[in-house]
Amino acid sequence: MTTQQADGRINFDDLRSLLRNIFLNHGTSSIVADILAANCAGCERDGAISHGIFRIPGYVASLATGWVDGKAEPDVDRTSPSFIRIDARNGFAQPALAAGAEAVRTAVESAGIAIIAIRNSHHFSALWPDVEPFARDGLLALTFVNGLANVVPHGGHTAVYGTNPIAFATPVADAEPLVVDQATSVMANGEVRLHALANSPLPPGTGLDSAGRPSTDPHAILAGGALNTFGGYKGSSIALMVELMAGALTGGQLSFENDFGECVGAQTPKAGQLLMVIDPTRGGNAGFAQRVSLLCSRLIDAGQDRLPGQRRYASRLNAQRLGIPISQDNLFQLRTLAG
Ligand code: NDP
Repeated sequence: MTTQQADGRINFDDLRSLLRNIFLNHGTSSIVADILAANCAGCERDGAISHGIFRIPGYVASLATGWVDGKAEPDVDRTSPSFIRIDARNGFAQPALAAGAEAVRTAVESAGIAIIAIRNSHHFSALWPDVEPFARDGLLALTFVNGLANVVPHGGHTAVYGTNPIAFATPVADAEPLVVDQATSVMANGEVRLHALANSPLPPGTGLDSAGRPSTDPHAILAGGALNTFGGYKGSSIALMVELMAGALTGGQLSFENDFGECVGAQTPKAGQLLMVIDPTRGGNAGFAQRVSLLCSRLIDAGQDRLPGQRRYASRLNAQRLGIPISQDNLFQLRTLAG
């Protein structure tokens, strides 16, 4: 997919159906195609374009090389009242999470919390779709994902961490859920790739070239270079925490252990994901969503220009009214891939 200016629009259902056909045409099961298509179309609709249709060639390449199993059937194991281990069996992370839905519901109802540890999984998307639905059900959700080693630890010269995103969602009284979703690198890798496509330089401090020198060239960062973590040594320690929660606690692999081997061109990281889902009423605070609302108002009163997630919600609303912007060139490529 290119970064060409959108010169047309498509509605969400049509885009989802087109993407579903692409996934099916490239060897996924029907259930996996449904889940990935809704996820990817949702990213495009919400303006999360670094994880929308731009990712389709990467999904297709990973499927075509056999790096990921598009028909994998996840194995769900509830190892304690609140701990759910899921082996994605080298499939995508989102169907693995969906397979655990019943176990999560049971754990939250009985224990007030569910810890979901997914391993042998490929997460190639934004994290907000994993957490926002829980907040819509009145629950808090926090998730960590590791990935491919392309981020150096603070002060280092060699990539060890993935871009290791974190997402958090909570209900807010009389409002949309509050959703924070961010990489622990200065920038998500998808954003660097979008800059490379547009040949636009990155801000100073974004990353290093392959010789370990500071670089603002997205091509140099992608060609054997690496990204920095956000926030100096403090961000680096948060990336460390994500790496352990997602890559080790789950029984999965660490970002630097990815090896594409024969699967040349594959792009999806084989990694892990940890989620925590919490029932806020167990904290003895029936008015939790009102407390969140109070804090959100105070942030705006204090001068914060907007809350996390608001840009996405505005984009979603716009797309619902007018359709999702798309270039004719990208639409043609999607239709070709759909067969
Ligand atoms: P951004 O820096 O664009 O945004 C991070 C968060 O900050 C979002 O919740 C965003 O809300 C919010 N935000 C942005 N600007 C403001 C502002 N001015 N005031 C208040 N809040 C603000 O995200 P990243 O580039 O770090 O990550 C992009 C995506 O990449 C994420 O969805 C992440 O999950 C995904 N990713 C996925 C990986 C994977 O392995 N699957 C790896 C790394 C990243 P809003 O969304 O409304 O702009």
